[in-house]
Amino acid sequence: MGMCENCHAGCCRSYAIPIIGADVIRLERESNLTFWEFACRWADPQGEIAGNYAPHFHFQDEPSTPFVICLKQVESKTLPGTQCCQFLQEGTPVTEQPLGVSRCGMYQGRPSACRVFPTKYDVENELPILHTIPQYGREEQNPAYKLCPRQWAKEDVDPIAVAHELMIARYEVGFFNRIAAAWNRSPKPWEKFPAFLRDVYANRISTQQEMEQAAEAAPQTIRLYQVDQPQKKTA
Ligand code: SF4
Ligand code: SF4
Repeated sequence: MGMCENCHAGCCRSYAIPIIGADVIRLERESNLTFWEFACRWADPQGEIAGNYAPHFHFQDEPSTPFVICLKQVESKTLPGTQCCQFLQEGTPVTEQPLGVSRCGMYQGRPSACRVFPTKYDVENELPILHTIPQYGREEQNPAYKLCPRQWAKEDVDPIAVAHELMIARYEVGFFNRIAAAWNRSPKPWEKFPAFLRDVYANRISTQQEMEQAAEAAPQTIRLYQVDQPQKKTA
């Protein structure tokens, strides 16, 4: 996107980036890192991180705390005392660009939340809409956390690509919400979470024969089969 080309990427420095299951699987493939190297859980009692996007998960060690699965952040190498996404390739600050020019180093595998920013899906009208961007992405008004140099205009966004990304994100978030509902019925330790996710996604695709057998066994649960009963399919 043109406006991002000369930017220090304040968005990748400011926000907690929620990741959904499909992001986890894609990041493991694309980055050759493990879940523990790029993901963390952030307590989100006020629902500010999850927003209307990511589900909350509960874990055995803190069952009453709602957590959101997010990308880890690291200390910025070029803007001391600030943080950024570990996948950000930070450019060196120079006179003309005092904050440097930075780029996503995981562009092909970047999470859905990054793919759709700064748009969101308007469910009622089934159309993408542009967020109004605040001046800073954090309350702390450090220049590193400054966001876009101006508001996005409709012309800045490819209407086909953005609609596709939003629809995929909407579908994947819906699937991840079902995974969260299944996990939260009987929360397990945080250490078991990535294996659980991999199991669900490895068994996401069914053959027609498996679907027919599941429908015979429990017709009312057929639509949740992959999420609710992943163990049965790996046995
Ligand atoms: S994955 Fe890429 S786009 Fe997303 S926050 Fe990190 S650096 Fe930015
Ligand atoms: S802060 Fe705005 S202009 Fe800069 S990289 Fe992020 S979306 Fe692009």
